[in-house]
Amino acid sequence: ATPVSIMVGSGKAAEMGVLFRKGEALQTLQQAQVIALDKTGTLTKGKPELTDLRTEEGFEEAEVLRLIASLEQKSEHPIARAIVRAAEARGLELVEPQGFEALPGFGVSAQVGIYRVEVGADRYMARLGLDVSPFAAEAQRLADEGKTPLYAAINGKLAAIVAVSDPIKEGTPEAIAALHRQGFKVAMITGDNARTAQAIARQLGIDEVLAEVLPDGKADAVKQLQDKGYRVAFVGDGINDAPALAQADVGLAIGTGTDVAIETADVILMSGDLRGVPNAIALSRSTLRNIK
Ligand code: ADP
Ligand code: MG
Repeated sequence: ATPVSIMVGSGKAAEMGVLFRKGEALQTLQQAQVIALDKTGTLTKGKPELTDLRTEEGFEEAEVLRLIASLEQKSEHPIARAIVRAAEARGLELVEPQGFEALPGFGVSAQVGIYRVEVGADRYMARLGLDVSPFAAEAQRLADEGKTPLYAAINGKLAAIVAVSDPIKEGTPEAIAALHRQGFKVAMITGDNARTAQAIARQLGIDEVLAEVLPDGKADAVKQLQDKGYRVAFVGDGINDAPALAQADVGLAIGTGTDVAIETADVILMSGDLRGVPNAIALSRSTLRNIK
């Protein structure tokens, strides 16, 4: 492509809210074979809501919510914000936790008053030596609804199962359908529960799921797809998406996402709407066709 035609293409793209940081991204984008997308904040709104809370015998619902919300006040994770909002909506009095610790991709812990409180994924509970099988059926049911099941432990005892649900963004189903029509394979890369990820992938018609990927493992997940022989475009928004954006043959960041993601990407989608991805591809195709 000549520089002038690239400029013309980029100008049209900018009108559509797609910013090509490098001219060569016009080319690499349409050469991609797999479009891999982060789930939370990219396919979904990234603003989950607490939907379910079921306690084990001997634990009281409001008290468990008060304790876990007190703990989650110290976490920046969207799941933490959902739990805190739910507690506040019920007018619960939160207290300041002591000795807060976060284990990225697993969960969080702290001392809340006289209680040791832990919240996280099943793999976090496994690390703590806690058996979550009493909630196995409930967890499956929740995950099949596309919700993320989490567990709370109080003083070393399994106390509750909690679920959060993160709505799919408005433009996402149409964007996936358009990418399929354009001939791409579509993949999802997420730190979330595998069963939850599968349920969401099924809803959206996503072809391949890489789930329970740890925060520093997303670049590896992209590499796995590349090792299968695919040229990969990765779309993400978070801090932990930056290495994957760099690893991909072309990286696309959501303009409403974190600065690191935006700085690492080759293409920026100014709005959070994923329809920008097929639009950008259509445009890069027609631009390059015009100059041949
Ligand atoms: P994602 O960005 O896809 O949600 P993360 O790696 O941030 O992936 O988190 C993976 C999982 O770790 C979450 O789905 C959740 O089960 C658990 N987790 C992480 N942080 C927290 C937290 N503050 N509270 C509860 N669970 C958490
Ligand atoms: Mg994200």
